[in-house]
Amino acid sequence: MTDPILTISRATKRYGPVHALDRVDLTVEEGEFLTLLGPSGSGKTTLLSAIAGFAPLSEGRIDLRGRDITSEPPEHRDFGMVFQGYALFPTMTVRDNIAFPLKVRKRPASEIKKRVEYCLGLVQMEDFADRMPSQMSGGQQQRIALARALSFEPQVLLLDEPLSALDKKLRADLQWELKSLHDSLGVTFIYVTHDQDEALSMSDRVVILKDGRIQQQGVPDALYNHPRNRFVADFLGKSNFMDLPVRGREGDALTCAVGDTQFPVEAPGAEVRGDVLNLALRPERIRLGAPGEEMLDGTIRQVSYLGERCLVMVDHDVIGPLLISQATWKEGVTPRAGLPVSFGWDSDACVVMEAEPA
Ligand code: ADP
Ligand code: MG
Repeated sequence: MTDPILTISRATKRYGPVHALDRVDLTVEEGEFLTLLGPSGSGKTTLLSAIAGFAPLSEGRIDLRGRDITSEPPEHRDFGMVFQGYALFPTMTVRDNIAFPLKVRKRPASEIKKRVEYCLGLVQMEDFADRMPSQMSGGQQQRIALARALSFEPQVLLLDEPLSALDKKLRADLQWELKSLHDSLGVTFIYVTHDQDEALSMSDRVVILKDGRIQQQGVPDALYNHPRNRFVADFLGKSNFMDLPVRGREGDALTCAVGDTQFPVEAPGAEVRGDVLNLALRPERIRLGAPGEEMLDGTIRQVSYLGERCLVMVDHDVIGPLLISQATWKEGVTPRAGLPVSFGWDSDACVVMEAEPA
């Protein structure tokens, strides 16, 4: 493996009493699509601004390919940036907007011309070169902002919620485009979003932030299937949480209990403190059956139809209400409020939660 392009060590940013970033350690690999994901106020923009050089750190350091850039001004770092708003220069044409970073860098006119054409092509906006920003839709403006950020061939592109102002359908289209642009250019992308679907679908790696701290990082499916704590399990998708007594342990296999019913939990490496486990269980990992068919019995409280799936809320004396997600094309129980049902899951469906860092 090559050396990381960026190494962030113990990055801390204080605004008065607020720790916007709290001892963040992070490496960014050359060419990867890295996403910073977290709720509003978790420190995503602060971390991106620190990387860009706009928000000097209170403590810690940032290295670019082994060179300390902690105190270097933004213009020396030469990173491309795309922000949430469209932030195009309103009095310049599309062409001049894209040419601007190149003019600032005093590139020759012939090169600028070529580069502008090339970047317009990258975002499929060749026909818009002479328009003003006000004559374009939000999605079109954001494409131009992207072209402008890429025009000077930055080694790193920083994107702060670039799609959040767009409607759902357009956002989904642009997610595909951004991802394929990343894959074809090989530029390192650091992408900020609070949208978990966006993070999971686009990224090589996701870093989850809360209160200025990294909660967990990893490839999307590892994070989704093995969330470390309750915050991650809850933020990334939906989960049911259960505090259940442990009745036995043999290697990685634990036996837990719901009332009188015992069931196995495969928990490789899980640290069990005390005799109660906090388990997370994804709604789509629970099977719904006729009464007596599955492990536990309950009653359907509510059903919510979502097209490809339906969400079923099931009451159970000990662990209910429990959320179950069922594919609507599946045969079997047709869920309806008031119906008695049974439900169960496989031994690898539950994930043991760690306590969140204090
Ligand atoms: P996010 O982008 O994840 O929504 P931010 O990085 O913008 O979060 O903010 C992280 C925390 O730092 C928040 O509590 C926010 O209020 C605070 N913060 C950010 N910028 C400033 C600032 N310029 N002055 C004071 N507090 C700030
Ligand atoms: Mg932000």
